[in-house]
Formats: sequence, C-alpha cells, structure tokens
Amino acid sequence: MNPTDISENLARVKSEIASACARAGRKPDEVSLLLVTKTFPPETIKVAYDLGHRLFGENRVQEAAEKVKRLPPDITWHMVGHLQTNKVKRALDLFSVIESVDRLPLAEEISRRATRPIPCLLEVNTSGEESKFGIAPGEARFLAEKILSLPRIKLVGLMTLGPYPVSEKASRKAFALLRETRDAIQKEFGISLPVLSMGMSEDYIWAIEEGATEVRLGRAVFGPRVV
Ligand SMILES: *Cc1c(COP(=O)(O)O)cnc(C)c1O
Repeated sequence: MNPTDISENLARVKSEIASACARAGRKPDEVSLLLVTKTFPPETIKVAYDLGHRLFGENRVQEAAEKVKRLPPDITWHMVGHLQTNKVKRALDLFSVIESVDRLPLAEEISRRATRPIPCLLEVNTSGEESKFGIAPGEARFLAEKILSLPRIKLVGLMTLGPYPVSEKASRKAFALLRETRDAIQKEFGISLPVLSMGMSEDYIWAIEEGATEVRLGRAVFGPRVV
C-alpha cells in the first residue's frame, strides 16, 4: 500500500472516530487509536510514524522484536496477542502495555519478571467463541481480584475481540458486555479501570458508541493483509 493511501486512510479513520464520538456525546480525545501492524513491514509502519503516529500494537513477540529494532525508539508498543508464559520476559522488554492477560499464571509471571508496575488489560471473551482467547465474563472478577494483589501489574482496564462474522447486533452486545463487566469490577473492588480496548477495522464505530477508549485497527489503515 502506498504512502498516500495510508495517509488518506488514517485521516478517514480519525474523522470517523470523531463522528462516532460526537454521536455518542463523547470527546474525540477519549478514544485512542492503536495501529495493529502484524504482518505489515517496517516500511509501512514508518509511513504512519512519519505522519506523527506513535501508538502501535503487535500480536507476536518475535515479530514485534524484529520491528522494534528497525523503527524509532519513541514508539509505544502494545501487546495484543496471546502471550505464552515463557515469552513474558522478552515481551516486557518490548511492550509498554500488555492487553492480553487472560489467566493467573500469566499475570503472576508478568509480576514476577517486571521491574516496574506494568499496565495490563484483562482480555475477556465476550462472544463465547471457542476459537478466541480471554477469560469468560462471569469469571473476570475472580481473576481481577487475584491480579489486584500482585505487586508489579497495574490493572488499567479490559480488552476484547468482537464476534466474527461481524454484525451490528452481536458486536454491540459483546462490547456492552465488556463495559458492564468493567463497571461491575470497578464497583466491587472500588477501583478505577479507565481503559476499554475494543473495536477493530470492521466494528470500531459500534465499539466507540458502546464506550471504547481504545480501538485497534490494522486493515482499515494499512489495507488487506497478504500472508
Ligand atoms: C489483528 C488484530 C487487530 C486489528 O485487526 P484489523 O481487522 O486489521 O483491524 C486488533 N486486535 C487484535 C488483537 C488483533 O490481533
């Protein structure tokens, strides 16, 4: 995809985010845009960087490691993919935020290996699809409670992947469930979990209307993935 297309896509996505915020009575700066760059080469990522973008996401430790060393150091990287416990140490060297904490052994390993409190999101499986990672919504509070007692994890919110195939009704239902799960955990433990990471290229508008504070987009900006 050429730089002009990426530039236009980025501008279009930002204006759609702003419109969705306006419809929902929210301010556009309440929603951050994480560009998910898995499978896209460093040159493509650099185009978005040169346009001023600094927030990027990857779903694999190895792939991220290769890109991080080829790109400027002032990028903030988020881990959005399934994380194996034996890769936590490497992940902590690469990522500022881990969005995919979905089980206690992983959370414990992050806390054990981290040298500072790492912002993390609880990944929740809101669609019930078996192919998806994430803790069941009804169990999220138990995991949250345990994570809150770990010294070097800072739980800042929840993350989910919308259902596939995408439909407005099912997507909104999943996103509302993430929001309600977050609200319930906040209330039960008297804490603040400001981040709701939900919405990808095909469903981010509904996610924003349902309260997303971060949308994770790849194809909407960089075009189709060829792998
Ligand atoms: C790939 C990916 C995205 C972005 O998906 P697109 O459909 O390209 O927008 C978002 N979140 C996660 C966890 C992903 O793996």
